[in-house]
Parts: sequence; structure tokens; C-alpha cells
Amino acid sequence: MGNCPNIIANGTCSVSSCPHEHNVTVCEPCGRVFSSVNEFQMHITSKQHREGSSKSQVVSCPLCNLNVYGGPAGWDQHLTTKRHKKNVRASTAPLAVEPQSGITTAQAQFCDFCQTTVLSFHWNNHVNTNKHKSKENYVKYRSAVEDAEKDKNGVAIIGAFNLGFVGPDVATAGKKVSASITTTQLSHTKLVKIQLASSLGSKAKQSA
Ligand SMILES: [Zn+2]
Ligand SMILES: [Zn+2]
Ligand SMILES: [Zn+2]
Ligand SMILES: [Zn+2]
Repeated sequence: MGNCPNIIANGTCSVSSCPHEHNVTVCEPCGRVFSSVNEFQMHITSKQHREGSSKSQVVSCPLCNLNVYGGPAGWDQHLTTKRHKKNVRASTAPLAVEPQSGITTAQAQFCDFCQTTVLSFHWNNHVNTNKHKSKENYVKYRSAVEDAEKDKNGVAIIGAFNLGFVGPDVATAGKKVSASITTTQLSHTKLVKIQLASSLGSKAKQSA
């Protein structure tokens, strides 16, 4: 069935018979959302995950106005190029040049989600790849969760209800979080019920 689109977009889902998965599996270091635990497990044994995203990350040089590939080593290499040195000499800007986010050029478009450049010709394919979608979903999901955590109608949440990633060992042993919900004097909100997002839907796993 895959991840619930409401959870991805809003951080919550109020459809009680929602058939989608509400335990969204994410890999924080890689910034990706997975539609199944299987997919996630395949990911964490992959080269992509072990090497992290830094190696393939694209940055750009603000002086040379071009993309630099190959992670930190590629950047160091760029600093030694003739073109760069010439631009440094011609520049009145501060001495240390910091790598910037990648840029879109005539041939290639920079993908903010993947932090990589994609030949314009391949762009339509790119946005349909699993990798791109999982990154895009991660960005949506993170901002939805952050919005959901913000104070609403004078209701403040102190502490966190976020259990983080719970592995099988921890799940067996049990995990506790504590947080309190308070309201400002002006708020007319009453706490009626607390429900885990993961306890909604027919595919819910009531592990917590
Ligand atoms: Zn749902
Ligand atoms: Zn990962
Ligand atoms: Zn440069
Ligand atoms: Zn992308």
C-alpha cells in the first residue's frame, strides 16, 4: 500500500480507515523516505548508504560559477585549478571561498532534493526515480513533522513524543518518551484523546 500521503504531506492522518502505512520509514543521514521496511533494509546495506551522500554531492564555486563534483576532495582539487586561481586573483571578495549549493547550467539542472545535477535531457526520468522521490518525500515529511510540532492554538508541547527510529531490539525491550502538553490561559483547547499515528489505519502495527 505504501506510505500514507497525508502523513507525508501533513505529518498526521485523520482517516480512521486509511489503508496506508503510517509508520514512515526514513533514513535520517541520507534524507530518504522508504515505502517499506524491506526497502529500508536493502538501503542500509547498500553502498549508497555506507558512503553517504557527500561523495556524490555537487557544490558550486561562486567565483568560477561552475559546479564542482567529487565531495570535499573534488572541492580541494578545484581550488588548485588554473581557472580558479585566476578568478581568485581577479576577485575583490574575501580570501576564503566557500562552496555553494550546486547551480543549474545550460546542459544540466540542479536538483535541490538530491543535491546533484541532472542533464536536462534526463530530468523527466530523474524526477520519477525512486531515489529522487524518496528524497522529495523526506523533505516534505520533515517539514510536515516540524509544522505539526509547532504550537497550535495556544497549545504548547514540551519535550518530544518522537520515538525516533525503533529497532527490533529496542521495540522488544520497550521505549519510553515523556512530554507534556500545556495550554496558555487564553486557549480554549481541551485535550480529549491521544492517539498514535501508527495506531490508525487497517495496516497499523500496534507495537507501541
Ligand atoms: Zn493515512
Ligand atoms: Zn541511508
Ligand atoms: Zn572556483
Ligand atoms: Zn532529484
